[in-house]
Amino acid sequence: MFGYTEQEAIGKHISLIIPTERLQEETYIIGEVIKGNKVDHFQTYRQAKDGKQVPLSITVSPIVDDRSNIIGASKIARDISDQIKSQEEMTRLFEQVKELNAKKDEFIGLASHELKTPLTSISGYLQLLGNIVTEEKGKRFIAKTILQVKKLNTLVSDLLDVSSIEAGKLRYAVERFDIRQVIENVIELFAYGNCSHQITLDTNLAEIYIYGDANRVEQVLNNLLTNAIRYAPGSKQIIISLCVEEDQVKIGVRDFGVGIAPGKLEQIFSRFYRVDEANPNISGLGIGLFLSQEIITRHHGKIWAESEPGVGSTFWFTLPLK
Ligand code: ADP
Repeated sequence: MFGYTEQEAIGKHISLIIPTERLQEETYIIGEVIKGNKVDHFQTYRQAKDGKQVPLSITVSPIVDDRSNIIGASKIARDISDQIKSQEEMTRLFEQVKELNAKKDEFIGLASHELKTPLTSISGYLQLLGNIVTEEKGKRFIAKTILQVKKLNTLVSDLLDVSSIEAGKLRYAVERFDIRQVIENVIELFAYGNCSHQITLDTNLAEIYIYGDANRVEQVLNNLLTNAIRYAPGSKQIIISLCVEEDQVKIGVRDFGVGIAPGKLEQIFSRFYRVDEANPNISGLGIGLFLSQEIITRHHGKIWAESEPGVGSTFWFTLPLK
């Protein structure tokens, strides 16, 4: 291991292989052995004859005689060069992954920004076209196109939001607003957009004012409702509940759809996470719940889900009253 022959090494002081700057380590090791202690997996470097430093893991144990006197020590030194090399490789790879991840975030930000500009023009021209076209079929096609462009716009905005979150730049405009009113507006918009499901609000509250960013809270409701519709293709009903619990409002969005397996309930809020295998026909990017969680957390609230596969899911979130 160190390049010495027997004749060169036997009988020599151990400092033969200890680098000068590490000589005090031997004092520590011998000190422990004298106290009867074992020194286990001590990682250090020792010096070979050609001056090269060899990384080692050392275990030193006291040797005792019949009367428990410590009369020496046994030492095992393992060459851990390979281990150190793979640790260094792991660190290098980790740094590389971090760098690539940052590049990917930057790309998502840039790409969604670039997509946004032509989308805005398309929306504008479609509106103009809607005013010019008088023929019934043409009008219908334009309405359908506007709806799809809106969907695309939401996707691109969500992607932009994700990159803003990563950069710590998602802005919130805090105001006092009636959360019941926001829920009702959202339900109305879904009904207006020919929603396939019947959405009802279950609450005793006539109005309930809280502080926060009403648009962002609306975005959360939109995400939860869109999911409740997409992941419940075989049912017709969605129930939103609203109540006050202690010093917070609690809102639930309940569907009667495919549900989520218990082991996945925590993970669904992670960025880009999708329970793909469960719903192979429902496409998505896995960012809606991530954004919702970020928005609710920033409002000092909590968001979670309860679900039973095949029965349905309820997504809950709370927001502080003050
Ligand atoms: P996306 O729906 O675009 O995949 P989300 O972040 O909104 O992204 O949701 C993450 C995952 O959580 C989805 O892929 C889906 O598997 C699961 N999920 C979300 N909402 C529901 C729901 N209401 N019912 C069943 N599964 C859901």
